[in-house]
Amino acid sequence: MSNKRVYTFGNGKAEGRSDMKNLLGGKGANLAEMNLIGVPVPAGFTITTDTCTEYNEMGREKMVGLLRSEVKEAMKKVEATMNMEFGSKDNPLLVSVRSGARVSMPGMMDTVLNLGMNDESVLAIAKKAGNDRFAWDSYRRFVQMYGDVVLGMKPESKEDIDPFEQIMDEVKEAKGVENDTDLDVDDLKDLVVKFKAAVKKVTGHDFPVDPWEQLWGAVAAVFDSWMNPRAIYYRQINQIPAEWGTAVNVQAMVFGNMGDNSGTGVAFTRDAATGENIFNGEYLINAQGEDVVAGVRTPQQITKEGSLRWAKLAKVSEEDRATKFPSLEEAMPLAYAELFDVQEKLENYFKDMQDLEFTIQDGKLWMLQTRNGKRTAAAMVKIAMDMLREGMIDEKTAVLRQEPNKLDELLHPVFDMDAMVKANVLATGLPASPGAATGQLVFHADEAGKFPVTILARIETSPEDLEGMDIARGILTARGGMTSHAAVVARGMGKCCVSGAGECKIDAKARTLAAGGMTFKEGDWISLNGSTGDIYEGKIATKDPELSGDFGEIMELADKFRKIDVRTNAETERDAKVAREFGAQGIGLCRTEHMFFEGERLVRMREMILSDDEAGRRIALDKLLPIQRQDFKDVLNTMIGFPVTIRLLDPPLHEFVPHEKENQESMAKEMGVSVDVIKKKVEDLHEFNPMLGHRGCRLGNTYPEITEMQARAILEAALELKAEGKPTFPEIMIPLVGTVKELKMQEKIVRDIADQVFKEKGDKVDYMVGTMIEIPRAALTADEIAEVAQFFSFGTNDLTQMTFGYSRDDAGKFLPVYLKQGILKNDPFQVLDQEGVGQLVHTGIERGRKTNPILKVGICGEHGGEPSSVEFCVKAGMNYVSCSPFRVPIARLAAAQASLR
Ligand code: PEP
Ligand code: MG
Repeated sequence: MSNKRVYTFGNGKAEGRSDMKNLLGGKGANLAEMNLIGVPVPAGFTITTDTCTEYNEMGREKMVGLLRSEVKEAMKKVEATMNMEFGSKDNPLLVSVRSGARVSMPGMMDTVLNLGMNDESVLAIAKKAGNDRFAWDSYRRFVQMYGDVVLGMKPESKEDIDPFEQIMDEVKEAKGVENDTDLDVDDLKDLVVKFKAAVKKVTGHDFPVDPWEQLWGAVAAVFDSWMNPRAIYYRQINQIPAEWGTAVNVQAMVFGNMGDNSGTGVAFTRDAATGENIFNGEYLINAQGEDVVAGVRTPQQITKEGSLRWAKLAKVSEEDRATKFPSLEEAMPLAYAELFDVQEKLENYFKDMQDLEFTIQDGKLWMLQTRNGKRTAAAMVKIAMDMLREGMIDEKTAVLRQEPNKLDELLHPVFDMDAMVKANVLATGLPASPGAATGQLVFHADEAGKFPVTILARIETSPEDLEGMDIARGILTARGGMTSHAAVVARGMGKCCVSGAGECKIDAKARTLAAGGMTFKEGDWISLNGSTGDIYEGKIATKDPELSGDFGEIMELADKFRKIDVRTNAETERDAKVAREFGAQGIGLCRTEHMFFEGERLVRMREMILSDDEAGRRIALDKLLPIQRQDFKDVLNTMIGFPVTIRLLDPPLHEFVPHEKENQESMAKEMGVSVDVIKKKVEDLHEFNPMLGHRGCRLGNTYPEITEMQARAILEAALELKAEGKPTFPEIMIPLVGTVKELKMQEKIVRDIADQVFKEKGDKVDYMVGTMIEIPRAALTADEIAEVAQFFSFGTNDLTQMTFGYSRDDAGKFLPVYLKQGILKNDPFQVLDQEGVGQLVHTGIERGRKTNPILKVGICGEHGGEPSSVEFCVKAGMNYVSCSPFRVPIARLAAAQASLR
């Protein structure tokens, strides 16, 4: 830790630089840099982020002791630059005190403006500015802000009344005016007296008059705001460590509220929504910083062009626009011209779109902040590609500037922003599959086509629901986690899904959904945001994705730097085709069970399950063979020239039989048996822990005929395609292996069948046999397993389930609490737990390659499409990652970034 705690800037000099963000925070570092490149910035100093950490440990008094002499020295420099004196009666310097962390946390922490005001300095300021109203307006703002931020006058909840707001309302009402700009000097003086009395009443203390006492109070309050609940929450969801701390920026005040030749605003060097290279922003005449964001007055546009566009949208006449809401370009042309030059300079210097804050004091421009602006996914892509074409950045930078997860926004429908204004959130579930969907409620899968666009609401989905899920626009389930049936299937389909929404009471029989204190019937409209998990009342307009040219170009660039392959998890021709369009280089996981979930296949599957002996099972399997062969042929055909990993049957058999009475009856009819037979079979299949039960290779080893049929179907399909001149590379994958012997038995069955099939057909295809690594024991004994397996595919869904001991299907009950309490940093089913599960992955790869140096390794758990997990996989030395079709572009980008880093 450095001993220097305070860094000054001003007048073209600075002790800090923009690359010192860790120590000075983003704002402080850039204020320093702006000074160095000749941008007008009010003088000031930054107290380091390390001091925040010290403060948290030692408290206010000791911190002040440590800082006192450095801050006094720094203040002297500011005084010299500004030719004013902090605490002086005649020529008082006022300062702003603002937070500023390493990364921006907009609105999360506190700010105090006009600090240094008291009953004496207000008079001096009024005299110097020749403007009483301005001085008293600044004073009342200071007492209010300081009272709220430092003295704790701000009510905890939004429902409670802010005492200052209440006084303000009373004064305005007594005078019969609406706006605070309509108050005169006497009103403002009256407000100051009343505000101070309120402080005394609530806190029991007089409002502090000594500027130094005010300053230390504000510095401590900014440090404290690092630990306020909303900052803690923001850090949690953005994964910002608490140890970082915030810096404090103390800066000479410049005033945007000095009259009609003053103002304050925010601006962007490019359009943050579309990415267009258009300078834009908003400002207010005669106002201070917080007014623009607080929404007390309608902000005006910075450019004339923007102003004309705004007026058209807001239906404001040209006369009103030009007189009441003129652009900065029209109202203060000189300051605008300077601002235009500064924004150009800053963007060229930082080589990224900048988000600026400025104040104009009596016609003179001052910059208060510059930072890389937040932007939509569309803008992210366009700005990087434009800057690359403009020669401002290189290809690597363009790729590294992309946030992979954000691309999702571009691949799915989104809600129309204008329509969101009035949206009412009923409940929030898990963001199981991204995108926005609006539709009429249905409660049964076979009724999904009842209305033109539907939302299918189920307690949970089951295999029988597949067709209905496909028809519905969105899927909502009350139970189930991120890897539940609904979630996995929906992601595969690229369909919006909110799962595990426990607050929703779904009654399929009564066809009702109760949520947010309301009850919805079949046919009522609701909307889902699968990216956030929010469930909304009513119909909300959506917009389809637009895969513009820039998107394609950035993906091509990413591929140039990417070193590992990206495959997809898909089992239907349609999903596989979508994935190919998104650039998938093969299939990493074809879950064959998903091919049995509907129509004739389900009937045959059930016939097999119902059989009491091998002979019966073989009869049913013989009927399944041609169906499977065709399915495999269709899937393989979408990936000609690419490898396709087909996994043999994995789930417990009870997933294929109906559990509801109605469905059991119809199944009995279908099969020509009594309901009791079905009931009995379903009971027999019951397991206490089906996820740890009779599934995976345990099925294939107890019913080898299933493996035989599937192996035959795969190889016959490959041979048929070969005969058509289409080369395929099937990789047959054995699931849920824990011991090498389990794998060996399955491998033998597959190889024997292959020999038979090749003999029968008089031709061969290349194929491989490998396994999933999804049981911890398999990872630990990977050296033995790799003597048999030609490839490993890490099934990190099950591996996470079994390493943590968290049920994939029930974790929704406690994970939200764990995340909130910080017991877990992330949902381990979404973000690979590198510390724990990651060790098993490393061990598995290392031991596997020890006995089989050419072992091919990939991942097919949901983590294969999550950027930080993809980066882990690249570093761990995998050959490929595999993910659902709509995450393929994200994985391509994340893999490229991992290679570049
Ligand atoms: C896994 O366990 O990670 C996996 C991909 O298999 P499934 O999700 O089908 O169990
Ligand atoms: Mg698995």
